Amino acid sequence: MNVPARDRLSVLVYPHRQPSGPYIPAGYAVPYLPGGCPEDMADWPATDGLYPGPHQLTVCPACLADTRLGADVSDPHPTRPTTPMITALAPIPFPPTTHPSTTVLLRLLRPAGFTCLARLPLSGFPDEAVFVADDTTRDARILLHSLGLEYHLRHPDTGEALRGCLDPPVDLPALTTVLRTAGHPTPTPTPALPPLPPGARLLTPDDATHLITIGDHPAGQHSDLARNLALIDAVRAGLICVARLADGTLAFTPHPTHG
Ligand SMILES: [Zn+2]
Repeated sequence: MNVPARDRLSVLVYPHRQPSGPYIPAGYAVPYLPGGCPEDMADWPATDGLYPGPHQLTVCPACLADTRLGADVSDPHPTRPTTPMITALAPIPFPPTTHPSTTVLLRLLRPAGFTCLARLPLSGFPDEAVFVADDTTRDARILLHSLGLEYHLRHPDTGEALRGCLDPPVDLPALTTVLRTAGHPTPTPTPALPPLPPGARLLTPDDATHLITIGDHPAGQHSDLARNLALIDAVRAGLICVARLADGTLAFTPHPTHG
């Protein structure tokens, strides 16, 4: 089932305090579906994790009464079609549990426009609550969970989606590069690569190694084994970064902190 963008409705959900819980959970906005929560939602955006099935992170007339047993729920109201499905109502000033690299990341993300920080109960991740940083003026979102950092950005000129994942620990020059490519301001002292051309994707060391190994790119047909092994060593050692261009070719460039 697809939800027509112009008809998007949301309700505000304020979970009740749990008797055993130490704090009042933060409120969040979730989609309201007047036609019922469907079994599947084809257009559920990746910025909101995986669609967890009916009546979980969406509200409809059939499950509204049940949702109200555990939370205060507002009346439905129209929502901008470009905002993520699930958003925080009261952004947290700082993540309550400290991810080792969160402080460093925030120094990069805040000036880049990601000022709306929250932990959201998104589905499909290994963590119960996912740390989310939103730039509401650019409709950009960054998700931080134990598998790494996911970015959902847009090219400033074309509006084309710029998405990807960086393995932990997050490589700050690589993140700076993708932020600059999407037109976000970043502090100048952070080294970065030149902006990526349209359609290009920065690869994780694992993905880059895989593509070099299987030669599944136009340059791979003529590659030689010794050269590939040297490339893989350099990728694994963090000496070079690899991007996959729109035509499938791989582009190699020295890592900005080693180059
Ligand atoms: Zn429902």
